[in-house]
Amino acid sequence: MPQKLVIHWFRRDLRLEDNTSLNSALNSGFPVLPIFIFDPNILDELPEDDARLTFIHGQLSGLKQQIEAQGGTLHTYYGTPKSVLESLAKEHQLEAIYTNRDYEPYARERDASIDSLLAAHEVAFKTFKDQVIMEPGEVLKPDGKPYTVYTPYMKKWRAGFKPDVLHTAQPNHFNWAKPEPQWVDLDDMGFKKSSIEVPPYRLNAELLGQYANSRDIPSINGTSLLSTHLRFGTVSIRQIVKLAIEANGDSFLIELIWREFFMQILWFFPHTTINSFKPKYDGIKWRNNEREFEAWKNGQTGYPMVDAGMRELNATGLMHNRVRMVVASFLCKHLLIDWRWGEAYFASKLLDFEQASNVGNWQWAAGSGCDAAPYFRIFNPTSQWEKFDKQSKYVSKWVPEYQDLHYARPIVDHKEARIRCLERYKAALA
Ligand code: FAD
Repeated sequence: MPQKLVIHWFRRDLRLEDNTSLNSALNSGFPVLPIFIFDPNILDELPEDDARLTFIHGQLSGLKQQIEAQGGTLHTYYGTPKSVLESLAKEHQLEAIYTNRDYEPYARERDASIDSLLAAHEVAFKTFKDQVIMEPGEVLKPDGKPYTVYTPYMKKWRAGFKPDVLHTAQPNHFNWAKPEPQWVDLDDMGFKKSSIEVPPYRLNAELLGQYANSRDIPSINGTSLLSTHLRFGTVSIRQIVKLAIEANGDSFLIELIWREFFMQILWFFPHTTINSFKPKYDGIKWRNNEREFEAWKNGQTGYPMVDAGMRELNATGLMHNRVRMVVASFLCKHLLIDWRWGEAYFASKLLDFEQASNVGNWQWAAGSGCDAAPYFRIFNPTSQWEKFDKQSKYVSKWVPEYQDLHYARPIVDHKEARIRCLERYKAALA
């Protein structure tokens, strides 16, 4: 009789250290088969040189080497999770599949169907909290309903926070299962390596100490660049929160809590990927001018701060948060282009694309979100530039021609666009 084994299924937790599900699998007493599945449902949407896929593949190669140093290997597959797990359940005597929970709508649906599939094979599906400190449903209003306003959510989050949650059981030993290795390369799936790389994160006492003053200045290294690492779990959120607490990084912690706030919003209100959180905002008559959308995407609007942000995004896959707010507001309010168009463009480009944060922040910028900027607050892209890029260092980097005659002329007049926006919004909300 072949020996029973358990699987650890890597998803948004691409690390060996402080990995809740993996540690539990290693402590289960059964040999562990570590796997990753490249899911065509997700990959089919991506360009052939997608930078996120290159990053994931690189991380998996690193994990493979680390596991090989401990006598096992990482097994990777290309196929729908259902079909891959079903064949693994037929091929091996599986005791259980271990994995860390994922809260996005697609993941919830996928995991529900995997749960039933495994139940039919009498294999347990064990899922763990790992990518957040507080899961959706752990921070609720006294009446048991979810918070839809950030500040009371954040206060309750902090009141409920217990340092114990930062500790996870460490593995006693590394007992890896050793079936025939399986490995998928990028070109096996029709993809190529991207030239865009994910920068390493930076987090130390100095950055945390200055964060409140430097986080809004796009020309300096004042933020952590953690978002992509949190997205793919190449770092443990518990270790980051621990560091933030030790360094008294209060303002930093408050930003990290936004991430969990939006995750619980998407969990309880999954329709907000498509519909406005505030239904009246779906009555806005967007102009949706395709030519203006192209100018926005290509950083050719004639507004230097907007163009700098979009060019940074196109070149690096990232954009500073302050500038994300400026470009998003400009698209929805100055150009009256539907926030869903902007959200989709960001989703296609951002290395740190995370559905809850992207939808939540886009709806915030459009005014349609749960705790959004009021609709009449219309960022002036020129004052934002003057305020947050005083010496034009950021703009000069990305739009070096901004003072030249051949630089694009503004595609809309700020004052006219502001009045037009207020009228359209008022009409929809009346
Ligand atoms: P830091 O300033 O160092 O912040 C630390 C961490 O706090 C971030 O890594 C992130 O996890 C969290 N955080 C900070 N600000 C926010 C916020 N406003 N909302 C949620 N979490 C936050 N963030 C994403 O991770 N994925 C997205 O797809 C995404 N889309 C966005 C779209 C728009 C229109 C806007 C305005 C913001 C978006 N953000 C998104 C939030 C924010 O811009 C990024 O998290 C941040 O710029 C990442 O850089 P950092 O890691 O250096 O941030």
